[in-house]
Amino acid sequence: LLDALVDQIALALERLRLTEDLAATELASETERLRTALLNSVSHDLRTPLVTIIGAAGSLADTPGLAPAARQALAENIREEGERLDRYVQNLLDMTRLGHGALTPQMAPVDLAELVGQARHRLRAPLRAHRVAADMPDQVPLVLADPVLLEQVLVNVLDNAAKYAPANTTIAVVARRDGALVDLSIADSGPGIPPADQARVFDMFYRVAGGDRQRAGTGLGLAICKGLIEAMGGTIRAETAFPDGTGTRIVITLPILDRKTDA
Ligand code: ADP
Repeated sequence: LLDALVDQIALALERLRLTEDLAATELASETERLRTALLNSVSHDLRTPLVTIIGAAGSLADTPGLAPAARQALAENIREEGERLDRYVQNLLDMTRLGHGALTPQMAPVDLAELVGQARHRLRAPLRAHRVAADMPDQVPLVLADPVLLEQVLVNVLDNAAKYAPANTTIAVVARRDGALVDLSIADSGPGIPPADQARVFDMFYRVAGGDRQRAGTGLGLAICKGLIEAMGGTIRAETAFPDGTGTRIVITLPILDRKTDA
């Protein structure tokens, strides 16, 4: 009997070991898949703007007697792509810090109208082709957030709106109080995100299938936005903006500044 029991235990242990090995293998291949996806994405997304910058700088350097307007266009091209690279590297840094729990939000009272103005300024170049209609009523209270991180989120969301919505359309930025919370929504008139993808676009590297693949993108922006907003105690979600199923509305919800605890 004892021998049989020992055999059974040995068998069970062997089975357990096999299952663990399997789980470890799955984990390793998932890690490997993510690592490869990250490397592919990073190298592609760093190279795309760099190729433009090198090309434009080359034209500036090698074309004597270039008309002022052409020079100006090339210089602006370099600036826009440089700004894109800067945002991208910032996103990567944020992602790394979030992953290590090394990013602690510095919470402070934030005036959303002011912040939206700053974010628009940082996005000056890519937003040129879009109208931004901001509806930020005075009575919307201050929110409690990290102003630097929240601006980073806004820049990402506005950048997406400008990237996916056609030129000459309006991006509507609206703030509304809802009890102890404030909803900040950014709506564009682009193709929209299908309802089945509206939660998944916040996953790392997730990009809507059949979307405009011409658009440079990493699938990192919204994942980082979600990480940052949640680190600040808020939420972020995507909705359809218009009844005909088009348009994207990103809604960021943040707590209002509680004056009672504001010593
Ligand atoms: P990406 O770098 O690909 O834009 P994001 O994480 O910012 O990465 O967005 C993930 C995906 O969500 C995008 O690839 C796109 O398919 C979709 N998406 C995000 N914002 C919009 C938008 N304003 N309109 C349409 N699709 C969007």
